[in-house]
Amino acid sequence: MLIIMKLDSPRKNIENVKEKIVEKNCVPHEIPGASKLGIGITGPTNLLIEEEFSSMDSVEEVIRVTKPYKLVSREMKPDNTVINLNEIKIGGEELAIIAGPCSIESKQQLFDIAGELKEMGIKFLRAGAYKPRSSPYSFQGLKEKGVEYLLDVKKGLEMMIVTEAKDTKSLPLIAEAADIIQIGARNMQNFSLLEEVGQLSNTVLLKRGMAATIEDLLMSAEYILSQGNFNVILCERGIRTFETMTRNTLDLNAVPMIKKNSHLPIIVDPSHGIGIWDKVPPMAMAAIACGADGLMIEVHNHPDKALSDGFQSLTPKNLKKLIDKIEQLAPIVDRKINNYATIN
Ligand code: PEP
Ligand code: MN
Repeated sequence: MLIIMKLDSPRKNIENVKEKIVEKNCVPHEIPGASKLGIGITGPTNLLIEEEFSSMDSVEEVIRVTKPYKLVSREMKPDNTVINLNEIKIGGEELAIIAGPCSIESKQQLFDIAGELKEMGIKFLRAGAYKPRSSPYSFQGLKEKGVEYLLDVKKGLEMMIVTEAKDTKSLPLIAEAADIIQIGARNMQNFSLLEEVGQLSNTVLLKRGMAATIEDLLMSAEYILSQGNFNVILCERGIRTFETMTRNTLDLNAVPMIKKNSHLPIIVDPSHGIGIWDKVPPMAMAAIACGADGLMIEVHNHPDKALSDGFQSLTPKNLKKLIDKIEQLAPIVDRKINNYATIN
């Protein structure tokens, strides 16, 4: 259920509504909008009587939210969520570009790649320290050492860090280094992990599971918001289909569908989506054309030597070429891409 409070409602009236919600064994969530304040209600809302709230002072409207996800829905919050990270906004007019290697392989490798990206104007560096790999014999990441290098790069190059929390055990360490905590496809329905990141203040990048529907993704995001963390970015990264020619099937349908049903930002990871480096740029362009709020792209300075996902990684030079094209495309879809170096 959602309660819309009148413009300029006195604080006292807002608190009265919240108290009544708690009395009914439900949980109130304040959702500030551009022009109105909403109070989302979760818990056993089927037992609530609408008239008990609609008669209260300053209440404008009481709306029943029928979907299985509530706080993430557009019904709850009609305007887009814009996440502000050190003055860089994700979910607004500006497109976010997150780039970097799949895994941290050494301090040198991380600094070399990050240095080139920084020069290009990239603000968000992605790099995995804990890697959830399908095979237990594949490179599992440098773990604690990797986090140490991330902290070095964050301080040395002043870049914001996007890195994956593989489990609840590594989460506290990851939360210290990450500006954005990535929850990977394999963990999209790890509900204990979702609840724990929901209790942190770090922004969370939630990737779609490889066999998850769009609704499953939204319900997983709901786990995070219901714990109090509203700073969630969704990520379409491809799903498993009968198609074998590509690594996954990048489901770009998810972008407009999520935009319709949720206020959360949605970015696209075309690297895992198609899995073939020279096919990443056209899919990245398609993602921007269909309304994505940004991209996450794997970049390696020596893709042929990468310890994971080299075959789908762009070189920094190829990323530059792609960004140049996105700069031209962005205004057509009413977006812009700021502070990126132009190609010589
Ligand atoms: C990754 O981003 O390197 C990764 C492992 O992604 P996913 O969880 O989407 O497979
Ligand atoms: Mn990867």
